[in-house]
Amino acid sequence: MTSFYLAGKRVWVAGHRGMAGSAIARRLARENCEMVTATRSELDLLRQAHVDAWMADRKIDVVFLAAATVGGIMANATRPAEFLYDNLTIESNIIHAAWQTGVKKLLFLGSSCIFPRLAEQPMREEALLTGALEPTNESYAIAKIAGIKLCQAFRRQYGCDFVSVMPTNLYGPGDRYDAEGGHVVAALIMKIHAAKAAASPTVELWGTGKPRREFLYSEDLADACVFVMKNYSEEMFLNVGTGVDMTILELAQRIAAIIGWTGTFTFETSKPDGMPRKVMDVSRLRNMGWVAPTSFETGMKEAYDWYVANVPGPYAMTT
Ligand code: GDP
Repeated sequence: MTSFYLAGKRVWVAGHRGMAGSAIARRLARENCEMVTATRSELDLLRQAHVDAWMADRKIDVVFLAAATVGGIMANATRPAEFLYDNLTIESNIIHAAWQTGVKKLLFLGSSCIFPRLAEQPMREEALLTGALEPTNESYAIAKIAGIKLCQAFRRQYGCDFVSVMPTNLYGPGDRYDAEGGHVVAALIMKIHAAKAAASPTVELWGTGKPRREFLYSEDLADACVFVMKNYSEEMFLNVGTGVDMTILELAQRIAAIIGWTGTFTFETSKPDGMPRKVMDVSRLRNMGWVAPTSFETGMKEAYDWYVANVPGPYAMTT
């Protein structure tokens, strides 16, 4: 069923330093294509003229658009201008330049936070724009919705082969290990690892521990992105996830079991819960033949091992 071939193409992973982009770069090593990346000092994604010139010069055939300003619930809630402006600008610049320079195919990565706060669960692609957004991540969601709409508009008006995927919450190697600004998995790995090293009996969770989230291993997302790039060419975006969710408390308990810490969790309820539940309906992608191959325990163990090996901290230790 493959409709698009990566073999022999010049493929740009925009955002190759991030968790999603670095996973895509690793996955592309198994394809017979020429991968191209640019560091921040070589290419400022916030400047249209830089992006135009760089893409024309490198003769890019294919783009994985994984570049974004990202962060967890508090980063989103406290830095809305950056999340809205940076993401709108980066995606507009790259999508416009991709059209101008005749890119053959582009895949844009969005986020599950595009869906309404009270969307019916599991969330089907059709739930987009059917209700109000979750206030803690509204800026990021608006930017990502605009990215989907840009891909659709350039497809409709100019016939560009631009598609979008909406990944659920991710974890894996290269996550942002930043206790205040990062996402929940990275924050919990840091906190529980530190509690184990210090023999501390408690770890604090933000909010009530009751919100439900779905977690996808970054390497599985990368595999899905390559699959979609090769096999899908329609206007509707595709959800990417496992279709399985858990409460934040359950997530914390499962990470604690992997790290080998036995203690109790407390709740800092002055911090926000965010969306009450976020789980994707992944039937569209499943019907095309892709399902996430990695179990939560396997992926999380790999994410934790990466953290221990790569992120020195006050409680760094070997396991
Ligand atoms: P979200 O999925 O956009 O809400 O982003 P996050 O990954 O940042 O947070 C997911 C859920 O985990 C929210 O309900 C948070 O309140 C909760 N949570 C519990 N402890 C933490 C923590 O230490 N850091 C973060 N980022 N979230 C936490």
